[in-house]
Amino acid sequence: MAKIFCIANQKGGVGKTTTTVNLAAGLAKIGQRVLMVDLDPQGNATMGSGVDKREIKLSIYDVLLESASVAEARIRAEKCDYDVLGANRELAGAEVELVDVERREARLKLALAAVADEYDFVLIDCPPSLSMLTLNGLCCANGVIVPMQCEYFALEGLTDLVNTIKQVHANLNRDLQIIGLLRVMFDPRITLQVQVSDQLKAHFGDKVFDTMIPRNVRLAEAPSYGLPGVIFDKASKGAQAYVTFAAEMVERIKKM
Ligand code: ATP
Ligand code: MG
Repeated sequence: MAKIFCIANQKGGVGKTTTTVNLAAGLAKIGQRVLMVDLDPQGNATMGSGVDKREIKLSIYDVLLESASVAEARIRAEKCDYDVLGANRELAGAEVELVDVERREARLKLALAAVADEYDFVLIDCPPSLSMLTLNGLCCANGVIVPMQCEYFALEGLTDLVNTIKQVHANLNRDLQIIGLLRVMFDPRITLQVQVSDQLKAHFGDKVFDTMIPRNVRLAEAPSYGLPGVIFDKASKGAQAYVTFAAEMVERIKKM
């Protein structure tokens, strides 16, 4: 049975997509069977896995509207060694089209149940909002991975996300928990970042992952080649950190 994780933070540009595709590639590298679900109409995780969002015939949109199954809509990202349930602009309409649908927040959960035996990990890249799309992700997940930059407002921004997760836990999904906070784009030479990192540790204890992802330009360059950094330049510091993080995740799920 696959463990399902949302990569979520309602703040934009904090490294959700970079984390999703590189964790997917890192897990695949160590022999895990992975499905990467793009739940963001921007389609960045789709493109960043080498799948052209303009050319996909079936996407997560069709799955949410129940006009296709996951098995029909998934695409193999050949160079990355994982499966992709892609997204494009069309997905932005799903929110409105699902308005009158009963249990609309559980659509993805139902769809993923059919393929759960085929994977070890399902990773869901969430959009930068706490929308119906993100809610669909949270409803089916065993846990949430929260990428964050160690900046001044980092802790403040977490409050809304933590409250949403608590509400979903109470009302819709008793399995849901924060698996961990992942420090990304980390630069140890910046004193403020070290201070915020220490605060995070003090506040959240072992909910903070041991692995830190450094700021690394190779991770930022990789998407323009349609590859996760882990595959684009496996020797880079950023790639190595994500492979270490993948191993940390494999250890974490043994305790779940
Ligand atoms: P959005 O909220 O728009 O979906 P996001 O949270 O998914 O954004 P990303 O797209 O992953 O964030 O990252 C934002 C930008 O930061 C991108 O240009 C990405 O290449 C860059 N980036 C992410 N992580 C790193 C890193 N560790 N080092 C350097 N650049 C990074
Ligand atoms: Mg993103």
